[in-house]
Amino acid sequence: MSECFVGGGQGATAPWPSPRQTHSMKNKPQRLGLFGGTFNPIHYGHLRSAEEVSEALSLRRVWFIPAAFPPHKAGAGVTPFEVRLAMTRLAVGRHARLAVSDVEGQRPGKSYSIETLRHFREEFGPQAELYFILGMDAMLEIPLWKDYRELFTLSHFVVLDRPGYDRDHLEAVLRREVHPGFSPLSSGEGFQHPRGNLVLFQATTLMDISATRIRDLVRQGSSIRYLLPEVVRRFILKYMLYKV
Ligand code: ATP
Repeated sequence: MSECFVGGGQGATAPWPSPRQTHSMKNKPQRLGLFGGTFNPIHYGHLRSAEEVSEALSLRRVWFIPAAFPPHKAGAGVTPFEVRLAMTRLAVGRHARLAVSDVEGQRPGKSYSIETLRHFREEFGPQAELYFILGMDAMLEIPLWKDYRELFTLSHFVVLDRPGYDRDHLEAVLRREVHPGFSPLSSGEGFQHPRGNLVLFQATTLMDISATRIRDLVRQGSSIRYLLPEVVRRFILKYMLYKV
């Protein structure tokens, strides 16, 4: 276990058993959620979704994985990684099932999810069940991601509904861009890749919250209270983030 998995501002020593210990203790595949994003800043749309997905799928842990250099949002405007990481850690606190990984900050260059997935696959072994969590807006753009077809061979996907994005287009995108052999699940709640991995729709509490809107509100001098954890709101005000 590398020391890249740190949660709740605990430093390098994780307060829970290592993945391999846990695996041998329970002797059954671990189900783990991986929630990547820019988290600029993290907000209740992210946090509540992680909470609900982890319960619905009985995930042992969900890692928030802030991108150090988001490939599609790169530019002068992105708040430094360490600052976004700090806010994410503050938001997660000492939650038993949520944690924060700084793995993308340990790699130089753009933060590609394929490299992160390979990393987690290596850490947790072939038996682990990985669930990559992302919003419908991000999922529909998956053909823009590096080695995106391979992503579906390394992990399941959990797709969160977002206001303004319906589910209807996803099947066409998956079949046309990823693999023509994707088949609908009998439950109607997703699709299966011919290699076995699932793309699951997950209904969570719909929250029309975005980091863009939060940044805009701060810039305008308007309130962001109740859109994100109070500890993150205070951090933003204290360090005068998003003012320009
Ligand atoms: P921005 O407005 O800066 O683009 P964002 O609010 O979309 O940011 P990201 O950090 O880019 O946040 O999102 C990380 C992941 O969380 C993405 O897969 C995104 O689709 C998802 N997500 C973001 N906000 C929500 C929300 N309110 N409900 C469900 N999923 C969300």
